[in-house]
Amino acid sequence: MSKLHSVHLPHFSGSAEQSTRKVPAPEEVAISMSQHIGAPCEPCVAVGDKVKIGQKIGDTDAFMAAPIHASVSGVVKEIKNVMNVGGRLCKTVVITNDNKNEMYEGITPPKIDTREEFIKAVRESGAVGLGGAGFPTHVKFAYDRSKVNIEYLLLNGAECEPYITSDYRELIENTDNVLSGIDLVMKKLEIPNAIIGIEADKPQAIDKVTKLAIRYPNISVKKLPSAYPQGAEKVLVHTCTGRVVGEGKLPSDVGCMVMNVSTAGFIYGYVKTGLPLVQRRITVDGDIVNSPANFFVPVGTMLHSVMGFADVRQQPDRIVLGGPMMGACAFDPDTPLGKTNNAVLLFGSTKIHKTTACIRCGRCVRACAVNLQPTELESAYDARDAAALDRLKVNLCMNCGACSFVCPAKRPLAEKNQLAKDFLRQSKTKQGK
Ligand code: SF4
Ligand code: SF4
Repeated sequence: MSKLHSVHLPHFSGSAEQSTRKVPAPEEVAISMSQHIGAPCEPCVAVGDKVKIGQKIGDTDAFMAAPIHASVSGVVKEIKNVMNVGGRLCKTVVITNDNKNEMYEGITPPKIDTREEFIKAVRESGAVGLGGAGFPTHVKFAYDRSKVNIEYLLLNGAECEPYITSDYRELIENTDNVLSGIDLVMKKLEIPNAIIGIEADKPQAIDKVTKLAIRYPNISVKKLPSAYPQGAEKVLVHTCTGRVVGEGKLPSDVGCMVMNVSTAGFIYGYVKTGLPLVQRRITVDGDIVNSPANFFVPVGTMLHSVMGFADVRQQPDRIVLGGPMMGACAFDPDTPLGKTNNAVLLFGSTKIHKTTACIRCGRCVRACAVNLQPTELESAYDARDAAALDRLKVNLCMNCGACSFVCPAKRPLAEKNQLAKDFLRQSKTKQGK
């Protein structure tokens, strides 16, 4: 990765200057037991049980997981399988809201003295990466210090996809908690330095965070180029530290830990109050939304409820969860939002692009931040050539979609790379590698 390529995307951020609004909790929430990377939780409540806000309703003994909590008070109506946007059936607890907003009695600030107590508290908070990845935060923190030396905590405030402004609003509205959260993580995990990466097109956030960060000599703010995909983990590590995360490696292999700014803000709030992750900020935007804005919504709010409070001109033809580059289309208005959903984008029409032959323009190569050759990868996948995919380093692909975005022939390059990675993995498994 000698030089970082990038693309410039249209800059839609109509919700950026609107303060986050709180909307009335919906009459019913559907809380998925699969809201993180790793093992799904099992419900620890039964149909008919009364639950309160913050009460644990799902957990598992698996290490790679985070518990799940009730986001409204009410009664468990049913436990059923609901298909997520990836087409996977997930066990889901449906709660009828009693509108009493009763808080669970067990909610108290956790007792934290040691590193272990801190990691345990972060697990109990249900924290996962709020930028969309959904990696359980306590797993990230529980690294083996005899083998891994983290020198930099890197805070991702890039938010480089169009429309999404939920992290931006976190930086503006919850600056103190974000900085205190970073400071807490640094102290508990003994990480000497932190860098908050914010794109240059967010000057207000850069100014506010820089001013308040003066109190923390080891926390600095890095103005990132306003280009996509600055928020990708490998790109952020390189831009902030100059270090390169190689193929099959993690940021921790080069002494870095990456965390989303909203996750840092949430962790500090949890430590102060004991209220687990039961709501989050989402951006609602798109070409049929009259007043783009950010909203605090309870985890488990369904898309039809979002349509109820979003100011829309017409029924959407396409609903995207997340950004237009890496988000996923939702097909069912009953789809529930989870901890990792940072945006709901509503569009009035769907453009179907005709794919034509590659004209060898090279734009996809120039767009790729990790210097892959999307055309060659596409040919290798079409030929089901596992050796070539390996040689061309398909596993470095971050599925950022930049190559597909710039391709004048509208070739589904990023999508093919996703399939190619699955194919390579299966092929290696068959060969016992
Ligand atoms: S999707 Fe993969 S190949 Fe395409 S630009 Fe992004 S990292 Fe490169
Ligand atoms: S951008 Fe599209 S047309 Fe141009 S080289 Fe890449 S695949 Fe071919």
